[in-house]
Amino acid sequence: MIIPPSNIPNPAKIYALIGSPVLHSLSPLIHNTAFKFLGIKAVYQVIESRDLSESLQFLRNQDIQGFNVTIPYKESVIRFLDEISDEARIIGAVNTVVVKNGRWAGYNTDAAGFAVTLASYKKDIAKKSILLLGAGGSARAVLYALLLDYEPAEIFIYNRTKEHALKMIREFASLKPGNKLNFVSKNEIADLDVKLVVNATPVGLNFNESLLSYDFFKNGMIAYDLIYNPAETEFLRLARISGAEVINGLEMLIAQAAAAFELWTEQPMPVDEVRKKLTLKS
Ligand code: NAP
Repeated sequence: MIIPPSNIPNPAKIYALIGSPVLHSLSPLIHNTAFKFLGIKAVYQVIESRDLSESLQFLRNQDIQGFNVTIPYKESVIRFLDEISDEARIIGAVNTVVVKNGRWAGYNTDAAGFAVTLASYKKDIAKKSILLLGAGGSARAVLYALLLDYEPAEIFIYNRTKEHALKMIREFASLKPGNKLNFVSKNEIADLDVKLVVNATPVGLNFNESLLSYDFFKNGMIAYDLIYNPAETEFLRLARISGAEVINGLEMLIAQAAAAFELWTEQPMPVDEVRKKLTLKS
């Protein structure tokens, strides 16, 4: 399903977001605000489809300049691309595609987006343990950023499907020599003592649910949920009332979008303008 913005300039460059569910996404507001502010004749559309091939076929039929990829296609889209950046290859997930001369080039801007938003906590996290929930496209970007930019003592990974987590752990084992990555089962989570916990699953997006209970969170812990809509998921609510510091996915969304925008337009995104628009909306 396509939801085109009103006032489409003509002729317009076309950008898009593919995934499912994506109708809640703020990406159209971000990119269309930036295009308008800079006077770029372009539109950013949402393509909601549970069928990746169908989404890509739709894009091929349009004169598309670039697109974002989100849940659940960040890994599966790779085989349809002509080239991918080194970073996206190591992460194993693509969230931004640049179309140039008919060739589709994949990038990952989630890792940089995540790293930027956690930068002020670098010293707090160094040499401490981390719990990462999830092993999908965004969890891979988070893991990459944590291993490259932070110096965690150990990263514990919980995922619904154990094999996916073990595969991710194997693939990241050699990224930073000496890093400690360990799978944890749901029963083992309660015994962990971590400084940072990151939810990189969609649990909490549509329903009022959390993978972790109230007892897990502590004063002094940092709880980061990649979800930004709702602004406070059940995971963040439980963390907040336990005294933990909480971060939602909004700043990461803006940071990864800014990096994608620059790849597409070779211009910096007017981030302050975008943030103003998002604040007005909330
Ligand atoms: P993905 O590639 O489809 O991965 C989803 C992950 O969540 C997998 O590990 C999956 O486990 C797990 N999962 C899915 N449903 C679950 C459930 N009901 N219970 C437990 N685990 C479940 O998705 P993604 O692209 O990584 O996105 C994950 C979330 O991060 C989404 O909510 C997305 O909106 C958000 N996100 C936010 C930003 C931002 O800028 N703020 C950026 C990227 C992503 P299995 O391996 O068992 O399938």
